[in-house]
Amino acid sequence: MIQKRSTWQKTAVREALEATPGFVSAQELYQQLLLQGQKIGLTTVYRALADLAQQGEADALSSADSETKYRSCTTEHHHHLICRRCGVAVEFELPGFEAAAEALAGKEGFTQVSHTIELYGICVNCGVSD
Ligand SMILES: [Zn+2]
Ligand SMILES: [Zn+2]
Ligand SMILES: [Zn+2]
Repeated sequence: MIQKRSTWQKTAVREALEATPGFVSAQELYQQLLLQGQKIGLTTVYRALADLAQQGEADALSSADSETKYRSCTTEHHHHLICRRCGVAVEFELPGFEAAAEALAGKEGFTQVSHTIELYGICVNCGVSD
């Protein structure tokens, strides 16, 4: 199946992603779009998400046991605190760490250093037990 690369599809994917509080897989987002009555293919959703991630408009999170999940994101550097159960993500900054990491890499003679920090836990909502 050949699909034209059109912008409304990407816009629809971006909007659906922005409306989602946590990380979602392409499959989940595709289901949401279908429910909204969007005529969009799963392949298009995958491609749009990959594009958004590449352009820094979305975070891509891949874990060993599941498919890649995406989240609408600020393009500025930040880290994530992610709920293992519901996938909700909180963004945070660690200015002290940034400086320390830069100093350490510089000391070792490394350039173009980058990092990703993702902390996993159980969020307030999921942590409430009966
Ligand atoms: Zn983020
Ligand atoms: Zn949770
Ligand atoms: Zn950082």
